[in-house]
Amino acid sequence: MWRSLNIDLDPHCNLLNVLGQVYSDIYLKQDNRPEAMEYFDFVLSEVHGLRIRELLEHKARGGFIAGAFCLFIPDELILAAGGLPIGLCGGADLTISKAEEYLPRNICPLIKSSVGFKLAKICPYFESADFLLGETTCDGKKKAWEILNDFVPTRVVQVPHRKDDAGRGVYRAELDRLVKMLEEAGRTKISFDAVKKAIELMNNKRRALARLYETRKCQPSPISGKDALLISQVAFYDDVARFTASVDKLTGELTGRIAQGISPFAKDAPRIMLSGCPSVVPNWKLHHIIESLGAAVVVEEACTGTRYFETLVDESAADLNAQLDALAQRYLSINCSCFTPNHERTEQIIQYAQEYHADGVIYNTLQFCHTYNVEYARVEKALKEAGFPVLKIETDYTAEDAGQIQTRIEAFLERIKP
Ligand code: SF4
Ligand code: SF4
Repeated sequence: MWRSLNIDLDPHCNLLNVLGQVYSDIYLKQDNRPEAMEYFDFVLSEVHGLRIRELLEHKARGGFIAGAFCLFIPDELILAAGGLPIGLCGGADLTISKAEEYLPRNICPLIKSSVGFKLAKICPYFESADFLLGETTCDGKKKAWEILNDFVPTRVVQVPHRKDDAGRGVYRAELDRLVKMLEEAGRTKISFDAVKKAIELMNNKRRALARLYETRKCQPSPISGKDALLISQVAFYDDVARFTASVDKLTGELTGRIAQGISPFAKDAPRIMLSGCPSVVPNWKLHHIIESLGAAVVVEEACTGTRYFETLVDESAADLNAQLDALAQRYLSINCSCFTPNHERTEQIIQYAQEYHADGVIYNTLQFCHTYNVEYARVEKALKEAGFPVLKIETDYTAEDAGQIQTRIEAFLERIKP
């Protein structure tokens, strides 16, 4: 299988060894985990095995694989065209040096890591993808797609930077363009029925995640933030229906744990909301540091968190045109820092901090991520006015700053102790 995918075998083996060890240290050594996390451990252990086989079988049946990096690419349309959407990762340090042969050092590690995975030929998801779907959410990504396109066909969906009528028009027109492209890839016409089915499938997944996150509002939360993050990461590449059923099973168990007062945390553990850049697999660094210090991460205002599931697509559309309007409406309601002005995001952060009973907020930005970094000033002001202590952590994927981050978070936790 690896040879047919043209994977570079030695570095791929190294990657799996490193991933296995890190996963075991961070995840499997947690105390008092819900039993239903077994499914997600299994998915991760088979991340380069069973799931890849399923993708290749899908291609053998005439389907296609579309790799994407961002929430603004609607999975519904890929599914309706007979494709499988795969969220490609870029959360590891080990591919960055490869990417720096093409990219400057001072851009975001997420961009460098994901481009590096392609260049190093060690990611079977990249190698299985028939094409990639990029977007224009930030300048670094926008230019990185041009480089990636030299190695794998990469098409770019324009995401506007304003949520006004003009912006909505741009995104809606882009969906028409995307439909045509996906129809070509799938050698099929995208039908009303296929989109309806895909919308229902994806909405059910979002509802399941929303129910799971609801349990984290309990004090103490019945599940660690690390486990919740893992689930959010798995959401990007697992089979949709199977993932939804597994999340529901876990939520059922968590409801029982809440009734019995079972939690991985002490009753008085400080409750932390994380806000900002996504933590793409296998980046578990900040969650791990925070929870190793005895605090509980109870919600992530991030693409690997609430932004992924917070609004549903209207299911009542009567024709394909109206379905595309409904998709545009839902996707443009995502509160990413790429928009200006962006009051909605700040308001939503306060709302989440209140709903999840956060004692403090850690604002997580990747180095050189200008939009999340610059937006911090507004978010900090609003959080302070609403009475929430906030700490900004700017980091990358190396382990070098872990000690310093730990010291700063320790001091923050001391400050917010109830
Ligand atoms: S980036 Fe993700 S999918 Fe790709 S090799 Fe790494 S863990 Fe696997
Ligand atoms: S983290 Fe920021 S800079 Fe990096 S890809 Fe995302 S938006 Fe762009």
